[in-house]
Amino acid sequence: MPTTDPLIRLFEDSRRPARCRGCEARIEFFETRSGKQMPMNAGAVPRKSESDPHTRRVIAFYAAADSHWATCPAADDFGRKGK
Ligand SMILES: [Zn+2]
Repeated sequence: MPTTDPLIRLFEDSRRPARCRGCEARIEFFETRSGKQMPMNAGAVPRKSESDPHTRRVIAFYAAADSHWATCPAADDFGRKGK
């Protein structure tokens, strides 16, 4: 069974450097297509990118594993429950 690598679609032009309140790591916030903020680990490289036909903004496809939520040692502080 092939392993699928889940990707997150984020607006590249919404990149905003920040620092994690949980572990103080450098992160970058991106806006998702649904308008939410997604913290990514700084230096995460998109797997691919494409131009959104509706907004003409660049959508970058990042690996879900590069999300700071996936790696933050203090992720529980974000209020995530379960798993
Ligand atoms: Zn963190």
